[in-house]
Amino acid sequence: MSYRESTLITGIGELVTNDGDQGAYAAITDAALVIAGDRVAWTGPASRAPAADAVADAGGRAVLPGFVDSHAHLVFAGERSAEFAARMDGRPYRAGGILVTVEATRAASDAALRANLRRLAAEMLRQGTTTFECKSGYGLTVPDEARGLALAAEVTPEVTYLGAHVVPPEFTADPAGYVDLVCGPMLAACAPSARWVDVFCEDGAFGADEAAAVLAAGQAAGLGARVHAGQLGPGPGVRVAAEAGAASADHCTFLTDADVDALVSTPVVATLLPGVEFSTRQPYPQARRLLDAGATVALATDCNPGSCFTSSMPFCVALAVREMRMSSQEAVWAATAGGARALRRTDVGHLGAGARADLIMLDAPSHAYLAYRPGVPQIAAVWQAGRLVAGAVP
Ligand SMILES: [Zn+2]
Repeated sequence: MSYRESTLITGIGELVTNDGDQGAYAAITDAALVIAGDRVAWTGPASRAPAADAVADAGGRAVLPGFVDSHAHLVFAGERSAEFAARMDGRPYRAGGILVTVEATRAASDAALRANLRRLAAEMLRQGTTTFECKSGYGLTVPDEARGLALAAEVTPEVTYLGAHVVPPEFTADPAGYVDLVCGPMLAACAPSARWVDVFCEDGAFGADEAAAVLAAGQAAGLGARVHAGQLGPGPGVRVAAEAGAASADHCTFLTDADVDALVSTPVVATLLPGVEFSTRQPYPQARRLLDAGATVALATDCNPGSCFTSSMPFCVALAVREMRMSSQEAVWAATAGGARALRRTDVGHLGAGARADLIMLDAPSHAYLAYRPGVPQIAAVWQAGRLVAGAVP
């Protein structure tokens, strides 16, 4: 048997497929994989690999599904390194820091926003992220939010309307008026570019009723729901996400037992963003509590200029293993298949036959090296939809 326009990658020391029971972590050693067009056509032992038009030898290196980063804020201008440095000197992070970025983003040209967005998207790709979500939320006016989402839609299909990121200063005296804007004219202008609606449900941002109203309005406009929940303290975010049938509750740093029950008993994915706790010097989310209870856990970067400016999924995997006591298998699954579930995608996050051919070759023999060698660039090559888009087979 052979495949047309195909590439056989053989000599794979460890091929992580995530094709176990119900999509659980699974891997094959001494493996091979065939890419045909934009899809994975075959995986199995190298000794049984079919012929293909081209052959690449992995030389014993590991191949993994491309990372799926299901939470990122990439449409912004300016930077906040001074705020980060001050925080490291002992001043706590407050949600209000977002407004610094809002001001810079509103003042930026389309070209400047696009250039920053594309630079970050390229940076992600080089680090093995082949699918990423991108939120608005630094415009907070009808035209600025619509502009942010149109720009995001140029680089990813996973576009999230986050008009309800924070109440902008011009609505300080009338937060209800701002929620009406988010649910009305702003949503109407943004929905055509978006797939998702998100809300920052937190003290100092939006409460339970406001968050539920934002999600309901977005869903009525055809968007799927996601929620920023329990980042800064316990709150109603997970409950609101569960009641709305959201795809994901993100952060989950502060959870009640009822929240954990809700995450276990509904399809809501608990998306953990440990780069935030690293960058704000806060306690990490209790991943073991969620995993041991049976919740579905995803890992994502939350890449944004304020609370966490990493775009590196390998860094998040290392944090998850070292700081949150996830096994390397759990962390890699959460950063690939978990992210796919948080985006309700079945074509990415795994490498079974028929999956989109999004894969990374590590310059290392196993997935465990991602946490074993933290901070070391180990992504040798990246394929997206069957095309080699970064690096090269060494
Ligand atoms: Zn976020």
